[in-house]
Amino acid sequence: MRRLRVAVVGYGTGGQAVALMLSRDGHEVEVFEQAATLGPVGAGFLLQPVGQLVLWELGLLDTLRRHGATVSRLYGETAAGRAVMDMRYHELDPRLSGLGVQRGALFSVLDSAWCEGRQLHCGTRIVAVDHEAGAVTDAAGRRYQGFDLVVVADGAASSLRTQVAAARLDRPYPWGAQWCLVPAGDWPWADELQQRYVGARRMIGMLPVGTRPDDPTPRLSFFWSLPVAELAEAGVDAPAWHAAIAAVWPDALSRLHGTPVPDGLAQARYRDTVHARWHRGRAVLLGDAAHAMSPQLGQGVNMALLDARALRDELRSDSPVEVALDRYARSRRDHIGIYHFWSRWLTPLFQSERDGLARVRDRVFHPASRLPVGRGQMLRVLTGTRRGWFGTFALPTAFLESLDACGRPAPAHLPESESATASAMVGDTGSSGVAS
Ligand SMILES: Cc1cc2nc3c(=O)[nH]c(=O)nc-3n(C[C@H](O)[C@H](O)[C@H](O)COP(=O)(O)OP(=O)(O)OC[C@H]3O[C@@H](n4cnc5c(N)ncnc54)[C@H](O)[C@@H]3O)c2cc1C
Repeated sequence: MRRLRVAVVGYGTGGQAVALMLSRDGHEVEVFEQAATLGPVGAGFLLQPVGQLVLWELGLLDTLRRHGATVSRLYGETAAGRAVMDMRYHELDPRLSGLGVQRGALFSVLDSAWCEGRQLHCGTRIVAVDHEAGAVTDAAGRRYQGFDLVVVADGAASSLRTQVAAARLDRPYPWGAQWCLVPAGDWPWADELQQRYVGARRMIGMLPVGTRPDDPTPRLSFFWSLPVAELAEAGVDAPAWHAAIAAVWPDALSRLHGTPVPDGLAQARYRDTVHARWHRGRAVLLGDAAHAMSPQLGQGVNMALLDARALRDELRSDSPVEVALDRYARSRRDHIGIYHFWSRWLTPLFQSERDGLARVRDRVFHPASRLPVGRGQMLRVLTGTRRGWFGTFALPTAFLESLDACGRPAPAHLPESESATASAMVGDTGSSGVAS
């Protein structure tokens, strides 16, 4: 294979994954990260089967599972106790489950795996990308050049994306969230994402996310939905904040006593970004920089991992880099497109002031999810295996077989080169055990 000099801007999930994969393929990779000291920033998240597949191919899923929490069910109800959502992975395939993970655990697993030829510039904020020359310039005016490829993976709030390609849509969501990690203790829903709603205006989520290498305490990721306009002030009046949580879900409040309010709460804002093109000259977008969306469907990490995998696979061909970049973008289009669509339409059902919509949701969502067709469709979207309107994202048989009845993977995994060609797919052949 040819050896490329590659610059990666951003050492989040997408940047980490692509740096590791391209280094393993023998490319010379140099990463530029604005944070002065390396460390995971971000909430716990749910790693779906498609994201697990990428880590399995890299030989890292076993390690991550030692820290993560298996999540077999997503359940949400109104504060009054009416079921709104009830999705169980095993109804799609008994071998599938989600994996609740602390950002720190995924960060450490990917970081420790990237050893060979590691070149990482911390505290280096890139402000300009020269897609013609293959160069980047940092905030201090230093220019780094001679790259065959510049991967822009600077996240949802990317300041560089428009230097690569004009956005067709780029707007912030009016709603965001406060979040924190709390000790799980004797939390009764150890393998479930649980949510509570009041209309679409109030939502609490509690996701088991296991431990991380530097902290053996099993934790839950707490998520409290708020309009962005209220984020700055939320919790300044701590008793009022506690009362608001208690009104939605007293069990959640019982886990928050050790959390200083508001200082122990982080804020999350999200964007909806669509690019018609993902590349220009020698520069290419990856992860949230290419396709930021609301985390309502919990797919962003999975998508970033899949982007990295797709880019690596296309660069393995002998085609000129620009052709490989075009193929990479095309190969991701159908998959990303459907998740963009659904997150845009579902987010207002859970985070907005549309009380009427929420009432329809409360009446229709759960019954629809119990109908065989509805259930199958929703589970496909959840697991990350929906592709386009009717297509299916392939999960190789060997990967499925490596997941035992408890959702734990067997140690063996396919060499990365074989992954893309494995043929039997969940759902494609009808042999997957899809309950619907
Ligand atoms: C509250 C919340 C919950 C979520 N839950 C889930 C979930 O359950 N499941 C899921 O799959 N996804 C979830 N997501 C989405 C997920 O976090 C993102 O999609 C994912 O982190 C995207 O990875 P990325 O590498 O593209 O960007 P990021 O992880 O944001 O990384 C970008 C990196 O670039 C660096 N950077 C930025 N600008 C520059 C610059 N100019 N120069 C150098 N470095 C720069 C940043 O410091 C950062 O390290 C959630 C998001 C939020 C906000």
